[in-house]
Amino acid sequence: MGIEKHQKDYRPNAWQNYTLQELGEWVHLFMKRANHRTNIIKAKKDIYDAKNYLWMMGEIIREKEEQIIKAMNDVRLSPPEEFLPKFPHMLSGGQRQRVGIARTLVLDPILLVADEPVSMIDASSRAEILYLFNDLKKKYNLSILYITHDIATAKYFSDNIAVMYLGRIVEFGDTREVIDHPLHPYTKALINAVPDPDPKNRFIQREVVSGEPPSPINPPSGCRFHTRCPYKFEPCDGEEPPLKKKHEGHHVSCYLV
Ligand code: SF4
Repeated sequence: MGIEKHQKDYRPNAWQNYTLQELGEWVHLFMKRANHRTNIIKAKKDIYDAKNYLWMMGEIIREKEEQIIKAMNDVRLSPPEEFLPKFPHMLSGGQRQRVGIARTLVLDPILLVADEPVSMIDASSRAEILYLFNDLKKKYNLSILYITHDIATAKYFSDNIAVMYLGRIVEFGDTREVIDHPLHPYTKALINAVPDPDPKNRFIQREVVSGEPPSPINPPSGCRFHTRCPYKFEPCDGEEPPLKKKHEGHHVSCYLV
């Protein structure tokens, strides 16, 4: 069967040279690779005229082909025909991450949830992926919910940042404002924990939060951070502090502030 041949032939009118069976296999392959929902095919199932069916398949192929090629070029997996026939083990960590992003882009999303997208890849690819996210935000008019434990990477491309502790937002606001003027003790501890590459600062003592986070299944009463907070005082283990607005676009949940 001709799948191998088709994997390398992505010209706009290439589908016209294939048999119906080959077209069907090709569509299946594209859908599988793009993780596209198969209900798009099912919705066309009532078409049993061979010519119409062929036309529909051709249209679908052409449309998917263009979307996939565009998504692959946009995530810089180019030339796409070199990457499409490859298996995951033939790609680097950064390339695999790009494939994951391309798979979401063909669905034309308005929101992309990226959960620790750079935690498993090396530092150089990390920067590339973050720059890529920045480009895609503008190109696709996309919102990205970037979930990370690494506040250092979040600050590079986030417009707003929400710091969470044990499932609660403890500080929220404009990224620059939160990073430059953190108010919550946990946010300050996260920022302090970011390694400083300047050797002149290697002897500076940093304030580090002691202890382990309590179980999120049975969180502490009051402020969830009170079991580790060096500034804990009387009201902290009673009522949970509300998320209050301190400045325009900067909210914090702490009795101290
Ligand atoms: S509310 Fe109290 S325990 Fe919680 S962060 Fe503020 S000072 Fe610390």
